[in-house]
Amino acid sequence: MDKDDLDELLDEVERKFCGKVSAACSDEKHNKRENKLGERSAATCEEPKSSISEDIDALLEELLEDDYSSSPPSKKRTFYNIMCCPVFIGGSSVTNGVGTATSKRSCDQLRCISCDFRVLMFDDSEWDASCDYLFLRNNMPDRHKLRAKLKKRKGLRAYACQCNWFSSSEAMDLRDQPQLRWVCGKHKD
Ligand SMILES: [Zn+2]
Ligand SMILES: [Zn+2]
Repeated sequence: MDKDDLDELLDEVERKFCGKVSAACSDEKHNKRENKLGERSAATCEEPKSSISEDIDALLEELLEDDYSSSPPSKKRTFYNIMCCPVFIGGSSVTNGVGTATSKRSCDQLRCISCDFRVLMFDDSEWDASCDYLFLRNNMPDRHKLRAKLKKRKGLRAYACQCNWFSSSEAMDLRDQPQLRWVCGKHKD
């Protein structure tokens, strides 16, 4: 079908549906034809448009999938807990967080595998020499009661579980303190 045939067909359609249209109103007729063609081209424009948006949807989906599959670290940070390696304790000036070989942050999620208590920390404090196993046994984990055997000591940080205690002045690898059965209890990040 060439363009003339199409014109004829359109004219015929117009005659059928707009029976009152006369040759005298050729301008109007012409405009109608334009509108019709306009609608037609709008219709033809719409198809690629919708398929483009489908493409975009598919692309976004792909990107999202890519994001999940190609960036396990972010997924890991969101859904899994992180452990210190190695595990550090430190003085009160040592930043708490996840310890690594290059970032000596003191673990603030310590847990004792011997008594199964969470290790408590007291900044700018040191355990009094009179602190003993029985005291901890009776007062853990009441921070207020534990303070009875804590001394103010700027820069130090006092740690204790129910079976052991330690005062640290600087970042220290826990592997060097084998008497402390403390492990990183995992950090939510
Ligand atoms: Zn840790
Ligand atoms: Zn313990």
